[in-house]
Order: sequence, then structure tokens, then C-alpha cells
Amino acid sequence: MASERQAPVPPSGSYAGAVLDVPLLRALALGGKRSVEIQLLIDGESGGQTDYQKLALVLTGLSVPEREARATLDLLRGHQQDMAAKLGRPVKVKTAALDLLESLDTGPGSADDDSDLTYDQLVQMAFHDHLTGLANFRFFTRRLRQEVQRSMRYRHLLSMIMIDIDHFKNFNDRFGHAAGNKVLAYVAAILREEARETDLAARYGGEEFALVLTETAKHEAARLAERLRARIEASALNLPEHGSQHVTVSAGIATFPRDAQQLQALCDAADAALYEAKQQGRNRVCQFQPTETVEFVYKSEHAGAAQQVAVLGDFNGWSREADRLARAPDGSFRASMRLAPGRYVYKFAINNEFYIADPMATEFVHDGYGGRNSVLTVKAG
Ligand code: GH3
Ligand code: MG
Ligand code: MG
Repeated sequence: MASERQAPVPPSGSYAGAVLDVPLLRALALGGKRSVEIQLLIDGESGGQTDYQKLALVLTGLSVPEREARATLDLLRGHQQDMAAKLGRPVKVKTAALDLLESLDTGPGSADDDSDLTYDQLVQMAFHDHLTGLANFRFFTRRLRQEVQRSMRYRHLLSMIMIDIDHFKNFNDRFGHAAGNKVLAYVAAILREEARETDLAARYGGEEFALVLTETAKHEAARLAERLRARIEASALNLPEHGSQHVTVSAGIATFPRDAQQLQALCDAADAALYEAKQQGRNRVCQFQPTETVEFVYKSEHAGAAQQVAVLGDFNGWSREADRLARAPDGSFRASMRLAPGRYVYKFAINNEFYIADPMATEFVHDGYGGRNSVLTVKAG
């Protein structure tokens, strides 16, 4: 055993198979040491050279193998950061330990020997909803935050779909809570099937789900949401005691950066769109619409040369299909678009053949391909 403990410690994040030490977690949560003391010791000792076995001993008086001690303390630290980010204020380390313990106790398979949980199992329990198997709210907010940051940095699209079951309270009242739970699992299974591998499907709340679609334009997200809605409407759930039953869902869509440029604003926008779908009568998909309207105008210098004009930019993933301009009676091409306040770059595609910067734009930047992009700044109000 001694030689096993001295084996090289894998780099952070590769703990698959390492056994998490629940007694250590419990001692941290419920033991006599105060949060500040624990925090000081953990912070003072963090780093590549840390002797986690010794750290666990100092913290709790328990003798815990290096790998387990490290896996436990690392997960605790991550959990503490997640909680703090979610709550928007610092969280004491003992509070985080207790919360983590609790998520273990309510998970499946924790009844017997809870010290046998592997790191992977712990992650599964801490971040997944066990009724539906989807990511839980905690995991969802964490991933969404990362994805929004990535999209902001690289100007990638990010779409979000919020889904809520229609009149679900009625369903529960008629058929019971257990039948309601079956509906949740059934809707979740459809979401999982329809989503791509890179998408994140989460149970956002009681009967609310969220899909986070990376590098996905608004019109693509709308297509997926509509497919989901239609599939749920068309399929039936067989309940042993109540026969075949149907449910419907409403969905709201918002996309970074055209609808919102910050994490909270994106969630609010998707929520507002979902609310709109409910207001319009449910069983439908609504897209968020920012209040600011922008007009794109293309006037052809050579009359009749342009048959088709599209505007493409970082708000639609440079897609030629997303935002076409319509020909106006005076021969110009126009499109009005709702865009959240922010700075965008764009071009026109003429006849699907060549691309030009907007001649009417006042600001330009290099496009990285030897040409230039027009810059559009949308101001609030
Ligand atoms: P709306 O179309 O406006 O969304 O109506 P609704 O009845 O679905 O909305 P409301 O928010 O009033 O009710 C949501 C219901 O979801 C209330 C609650 O009983 C049910 N619910 C939430 N979580 C669960 C769960 O885990 N299992 C079951 N069976 N029901 C749940
Ligand atoms: Mg609801
Ligand atoms: Mg509902």
C-alpha cells in the first residue's frame, strides 16, 4: 500500500477512479476547525508540491491516502467557487463541504458504504439530476458561465433554449406526482436525443429545462426548438394506469451576441421569450427580440446587378441564409433587425458570390482575409 501512495499524482482534472474520501469531507463540514482556519491552511498549501495527505491530517486529524485527500480537497474547492459564483457572494468552506455532503446523501447508491464512491460517481451525483439524468442547475450555471466567457472572447455564437412544460400542475393534479415524474424523464430523454453531443441539456428547475447550444445561430436554435416542440406534441406517454397521455411544451430562445452580451442578460432574454410563448397560448416557440432596431441598406451602384443581398456578421455566425435583405421599391435592399446594444462587425454578400463592406458604414476593421468589415455600434435606448 505504501508504494501505491507514493505513485505520482496525476495532474489536476484527471482523477478518474480516485476514491473520494467521505469521512474527510464529513470531518471538514462538521469538525471543530473553523472555516477561516481551514481556508488559511488550504490556501497556504495549494500548489503542485502540496502534500495532501499531511494537509488532511492537519485539517481533520484523519489519515487519508494522498490521492483521496487531493481528490476530496480539489472537489471541495471547486464546489466552493461554484457556490460563490451562483450566489454572488463568498461562501465559507464548511458551508460548501456541508452542501457537497448533502448532494451525496440524496444521490443514488449512497445508502450503504458511501466511502466507496469514486471521483466520477461523485461528480455524477453533484452535477446531475437523478430523476432525468440531465445536468443539474449547478452544472448548468457553471458550464453556461464558461461558454459565455468563451463566446465573448472569440465572438462565437451561443444560443440558449429555455423549455417549460405546459399546464404541468394540471397534469400532476390529474395523474399524480409519480406520473408527473415520468413526464419529466420522458421529456428529458427527447431533449437528450435531439441535442448534439456538444450541446448541454439541463434540468433548470422543477419542470423547466435548458439547452445551451455552442456556436449555434438563432435561426438554427429556433429550428431545433421547433423540432423538439413538435416531437413532444406528437408523441404520447404511456401510463400504466391512465393510458396514453400527451403533454406540450413552450420554449424561449435567446442568442449571444445579438440578443444579449452578458450571462445574466442572456438568461433573462431566454426567460422573457419563454414567457412570451406562454402568453401567446403555449405549445409554441418564441424568439427573444431586443428593443433596438437597426436598418441595413444596400444601394447597388450598377442598377440590376444585385439580385440577392444578405447581411452576414458576428451576430449571425456569418451565415448567408440567416438575414436576407429585401428589395425596396426604389431598388435598394433593406433589412431591419433587432440587435442588443453592443459592437458588431458585418459585411454584405451580393448574389451569394462576392462580399463587400457596407459602403454606408462609418467605421471599418480588417477582416483578417485581406479585406475589411464594417463596424456597427448599437447604443441602448
Ligand atoms: P404553465 O403552462 O404556465 O407552465 O403552467 P404550469 O402548471 O406548468 O406551471 P406552474 O409553474 O404553475 O407549475 C409547475 C408545476 O410543476 C408545479 C409542480 O407541481 C410541478 N413540478 C415541479 N417539479 C416537479 C417534479 O419534480 N415532479 C413533478 N411530478 N412535478 C413537478
Ligand atoms: Mg414553470
Ligand atoms: Mg409549466
